[in-house]
Amino acid sequence: MLLKTILNSVTDYKSFHYGKVSFHEKGSETQHIDVEIFSRKNSQATCSECGKKCPTYDTARTPRRFEFVPLWSIPVFFLYKMRRVTCPVHGVIVESVPWGDGKCTQTIEQRQFLANWARRLSRSEVAECFNTTFGKVFRAVKWIVDWGLEHRNLDDVESLGVDEVQVRKGHHYATLVYQLDAGNKRLLGIEEGRTEESLETFFEEFDEGAVGEEKRSLKVKWVCSDMWKPYLNVIGKVCTNALNILDRFHIKGHLTDAVNETRKSDVKKLKAEGREAVLTKSKYIFLKNPENLTDDQAEKLSELLGYNLRVVRAYLMKEDFERFWEYRSAYWSGRFLDAWCTRAMRSKIEPMKKFVKMLRKHRELLMNWFRSRGLSSGTVEGFNNKVKLTARKAYGFQAFETLKIALFHALGRLPEPKSAHRF
Ligand SMILES: [Zn+2]
Repeated sequence: MLLKTILNSVTDYKSFHYGKVSFHEKGSETQHIDVEIFSRKNSQATCSECGKKCPTYDTARTPRRFEFVPLWSIPVFFLYKMRRVTCPVHGVIVESVPWGDGKCTQTIEQRQFLANWARRLSRSEVAECFNTTFGKVFRAVKWIVDWGLEHRNLDDVESLGVDEVQVRKGHHYATLVYQLDAGNKRLLGIEEGRTEESLETFFEEFDEGAVGEEKRSLKVKWVCSDMWKPYLNVIGKVCTNALNILDRFHIKGHLTDAVNETRKSDVKKLKAEGREAVLTKSKYIFLKNPENLTDDQAEKLSELLGYNLRVVRAYLMKEDFERFWEYRSAYWSGRFLDAWCTRAMRSKIEPMKKFVKMLRKHRELLMNWFRSRGLSSGTVEGFNNKVKLTARKAYGFQAFETLKIALFHALGRLPEPKSAHRF
């Protein structure tokens, strides 16, 4: 069987045909396969600017090399002598070829191939597995993300989730916006920082091309967010037809922080009394959900519950708060909330009191949760975890743009060019 037979079956370049295929074994150069390509006789080349068939002006003397999908990890190159055409509109201009674009020496197929693998492996692993460079894998991913962003459809988004993620050590945050509609959950935007401006920039891009009543932000019905003031301000100003909901995942995060603060101050107090051993290795016991504890941790927890420590009381209050989300009626959940808040205030535990003050200030938004049944708040949490994982993998690149590309590639559910699924 000839390699040409396979190539003809996986590619479909009308007006071109394959010529000689040669295998270059290891020697002075690295092992690779060269595949010649010729234009069909009497076929006209197309202008790379407008795509119209035009008469040929001249043909390059040496072929240009394009990197194709590797075969058994052996790099494959297309060799083709580019023509220039005389376009009535664009003058003398290089032709367009179906396997490439612009000056890029990677074929579209190879870029899609590498980009798809980069979803499963780290970029350096992809480069290593397929005998190419890190830079080429990165450019492939960037290309497919750019293509996807240009071709994605942002109409009919009804539910949004807004989240902030620490992308680097220190105070380097990013604002992320997700679509949370059933059947279409994806990352919609990433902006630097977590200010009003960050979220405003997102909405400007989101609304691009739509004006007046047609603005996409006006069609949003639900926005799920944290109690972060800059976000609440922008959501209130821009998504005027939406109900702002405080996310269960974020509320739980604040409550867990309060328990942890309490634990820290207890440790200090015990240390002063020379009894710090009581709370050694207790941190995760108080932070984890009880069902996720190991046997040892569960045993330690039941021992700790016997002490009259503030952290123990805070922990029990945290577990009790879970009931809030279980109510079916907003009325009864509201009664529960108020009673819980009163108990927490009476506990005289400062971090818990601070949490209560925050809740009380946003009581209305919190109660909106019961009007939005069906909007899964687990999704924001799931995205949050995946974002952190991707950010950690992309840690090698310091540039924000790079992280943005990596996140859109992993979570954007972006459309891809048609030929993407052959390899
Ligand atoms: Zn033209």
